[in-house]
Amino acid sequence: VADLDIVYRSGFGTDPVHAVRSVSLDIAPGEVVGLVGESGSGKSTIGRAIGGLEPIASGTLEVFGEDLRKLRGRRLRDLRRRIGFVFQDPAASFNSFMTVEECIAEPMGIHRLPGGKAAYRRRAAELLDAVELPASYAHRYPFELSGGQRQRVGLARALALSPELVIADEPTSALDVSVQARVLDLFGALQRELGFASLFISHDLAVVEMLADRVGVLCQGELVELGETEAVLHAPRHPYTQRLIAAVP
Ligand code: ATP
Ligand code: MG
Repeated sequence: VADLDIVYRSGFGTDPVHAVRSVSLDIAPGEVVGLVGESGSGKSTIGRAIGGLEPIASGTLEVFGEDLRKLRGRRLRDLRRRIGFVFQDPAASFNSFMTVEECIAEPMGIHRLPGGKAAYRRRAAELLDAVELPASYAHRYPFELSGGQRQRVGLARALALSPELVIADEPTSALDVSVQARVLDLFGALQRELGFASLFISHDLAVVEMLADRVGVLCQGELVELGETEAVLHAPRHPYTQRLIAAVP
């Protein structure tokens, strides 16, 4: 991402919202980059933009060496297939009439992976195991699971197509602290094992500290700091980052 600007123009008589201002950011293969900032600072907007889900006003956005702004149709779909998304509320991307197995397998069907239903079921079972849920959960419905279990299903679904990049947008913010730690541990373990790169969005500095190699700090759409996690959190240079850290009890 270089010099990225995103402007929302909505409705008559409302001022455009300049949600992202000249942000430059890169994520190396296998690297976890944390993105922190207050509510409304533009974190989710950047995450969605990298997935090709936001109109870009100006700047460049290159994903896996391809200029995202130039991709259309099939080539855009092929690129999206290499990116997994995990959201704060996993249920938002589930169809409530689908079983856990179907939720996990759905992306495989959408992208017509080879092998058909039987192969998808096998792969869903592997993923269920990878996120440490019992095999019997395959036939449950998401609403029959706890929040932490549901987020494990969300993670399994995001990993269904073996993505090279996972955009995680506050995946543990809705969970209580002990469950949060276990889901984060799982995320970290899977990331190391599978080696995917990740943009890990969170307003919680402690969460980012656990996972990120580098961290970026967003303030009102601007990236005010970007560096090694250790350096940014323990020796912040920008006054905004210093305030953000001082605000943590
Ligand atoms: P939070 O921590 O609350 O999730 P965030 O950092 O993820 O916040 P964004 O969701 O990226 O913030 O929003 C950045 C700004 O863009 C906000 O001012 C928001 O109101 C605005 N915005 C986001 N999506 C849209 C949209 N679809 N249309 C208009 N404005 C939007
Ligand atoms: Mg957000």
